[in-house]
Amino acid sequence: MGALAAAAPASPAQACPACACPVCGGPARPAPANRHGRVVAGCAACGHHFVANPWSEAEIRSFYQGMEYFRKNCAHQGIASIEDDAAWQGWTAHRLGQIERLLLPRLGPGPLRILEVGCLEGRVLRGLARMGHSVSGCDVNAEVAALGARLFGLDIRPGSPEECGFEPASFDAVISFHTLEHLRDPFAALEAQRELVHPGGAVFLEVPLNEADHDNRDHLHFFSEASLEQALRRLFPRFETEANVFADASGRAIGSALALAFKDAP
Ligand SMILES: [Zn+2]
Repeated sequence: MGALAAAAPASPAQACPACACPVCGGPARPAPANRHGRVVAGCAACGHHFVANPWSEAEIRSFYQGMEYFRKNCAHQGIASIEDDAAWQGWTAHRLGQIERLLLPRLGPGPLRILEVGCLEGRVLRGLARMGHSVSGCDVNAEVAALGARLFGLDIRPGSPEECGFEPASFDAVISFHTLEHLRDPFAALEAQRELVHPGGAVFLEVPLNEADHDNRDHLHFFSEASLEQALRRLFPRFETEANVFADASGRAIGSALALAFKDAP
């Protein structure tokens, strides 16, 4: 747990000697390092920006552990308490509303088997379970995953989806919200999510779009509309995206995209 040590600033040439866009393979131009010593490179072809010298897997894993991270993440979304309160109610209703409007009607009557990747304490899963669905979750924050499993009596496992030991093709839907942009390799993660979905199932996700704040220490990828679509096209025969706007705790509007991607052609 705790903050990552500040890395020695790397020059763009050191951090990104032959920068290629991880989405489209196009040439990416490195920018000067941000205040965390991370070099953000941008692809001229698809508009994807990414950290060219990301934290190590161990540094990332360590950063997301513990209740301190959970509290900070809640505060960022205007939620002050771990307990159920009006702020949580609003937050959960908003997210469940997106799932009910965009995902569930496309998957048949249910009950459905749904996995949330990066579920933290699992309030979205609790809401889906109350609707009668069979839910599972996984989160790299072992303490918060255990807390959610205990508080809500849900199957929430610690670790990455690979470590959580779910059977391939065992879910109708795999969902994740604001998770992919935190990973070193969001494309491998998306592929792993696809493998957990059975034929006819779908992956449903939200990522921030066109973020201007490259000093956001937690984000290693900064998607554009084009780079998100390109990534989805590589892995799924059909998908839909919807633009969304949400406000952070300071009221700042942040653009995002919701994406619904199907494992099989119609
Ligand atoms: Zn690109």
